[in-house]
Amino acid sequence: MRAVDLIRRKRDGGELTPEEMDFLVSGYVRGEIPDYQMAAWLMAVVWRGLSRTELASLVEVMRRSPRPLRLRHLPGPRVDKHSTGGVGDKTSLVVAPLVAAAGAYVPMVSGRALGHTGGTLDKLESIPGFNTRLTLEQFCHVLKETGCALIGQTEEIAPADRLLYALRDATATVESPYLICASIMSKKLSEDLDGLVLDVKTGSGAFLKSEAEAVFLAELLVETGRRAGVRTVALLTDMDQPLGQSVGNALEVAEALEVLRGGGPADLRELCLELAAWMLVVAGLAGDAREGRQQAERLLESGAALEKFRQIIGCQGGDVRVVDDPDRLPRTRHQLTVPSPRDGVVVAMDCEKIGLAATVLGAGRARKEDAVDPAVGLVVHCKRGDSVAAGQPLVTLHYNAGEHLEEARRLVLESYRFADTAPEQLQPLVRRILGA
Ligand code: URA
Repeated sequence: MRAVDLIRRKRDGGELTPEEMDFLVSGYVRGEIPDYQMAAWLMAVVWRGLSRTELASLVEVMRRSPRPLRLRHLPGPRVDKHSTGGVGDKTSLVVAPLVAAAGAYVPMVSGRALGHTGGTLDKLESIPGFNTRLTLEQFCHVLKETGCALIGQTEEIAPADRLLYALRDATATVESPYLICASIMSKKLSEDLDGLVLDVKTGSGAFLKSEAEAVFLAELLVETGRRAGVRTVALLTDMDQPLGQSVGNALEVAEALEVLRGGGPADLRELCLELAAWMLVVAGLAGDAREGRQQAERLLESGAALEKFRQIIGCQGGDVRVVDDPDRLPRTRHQLTVPSPRDGVVVAMDCEKIGLAATVLGAGRARKEDAVDPAVGLVVHCKRGDSVAAGQPLVTLHYNAGEHLEEARRLVLESYRFADTAPEQLQPLVRRILGA
């Protein structure tokens, strides 16, 4: 078998057998297939897609692990959530401790920033000392002690996604429903779960922009989860503007802490409560979403979720003082306000441009080996439906090096669309629920 023949076949719209998929993906993980051949095959998949049989065999090869996690001995249900990628989406930092505080176990394997979107691991690592590179033993220990542990893909858990994720990020091969499904489900099915909630983003800040594409992805995800025996629900949620106000790693941790303290932006709090409610349902800890939501609200109001986050930060080596004093999180040396160029109402935002503005300031990566700057990002002051006066702050950019400041400012201004009157109807935050 030769990789070049498999790339050519996919390029021309053909299908790979499970053995061929194994040859390609396992060969890449072993270092026998170089980045350039894997990148060429990924690009062919972006254009040609995968058959259902190919997708099933890709998920199977990618979830294969030299030491699979076995968590059935834990005295509670195992549940997780994952997003298909958003801008300002810090919900994992809220719902993971919240659901653990309700008595579930959340063994969360997350990703880093991808394309114009943020990643949970980069956000957590902005907490001084927080270690997302736990060994398997440490991961299981923190999970048992606190009910939740958060790490990235390792050589033992979803090893193929660890490599493919970084390669896709740097080769513009993220935007395929099949590759997104395989990436997410290889991580989630490695966690030995009872239940899984997927937050499938739709809109200008999502990888798959149209609602039809997002529904297609949601169906692939639910089907893959169910086939593996995991109770799986997908929420189709709005990504036509950033979630909450902050975009950037430390800025997002600070905003997640506000929600855990019972405050925070209304849209962010709302989505956290909905996701947590469904996590409690698929975990079997709530009879329906309404009951799950009431439980989640109580855990926020009582401070139990915040205390759980403190405990997790401590167990993963982080500075727990940030919980009460977010000023201890990294901060930039400079800030620049981008004012509104006119009077009017914000009727739309190109949310991808907002994500890209944060990325060019250093919140994400342009190449696999780049480091992120934990402090940089932006705070959005005006969102859809807001009236603005000329000169009023739209966004504040937080930056250290001025190098890409002008590009970030331009992206922010390009992202806003104004009109004289308010938009007729705003899309709801949760547009549909699949698999309920
Ligand atoms: N999240 C992932 O884990 N993988 C993707 O491909 C996209 C979002």
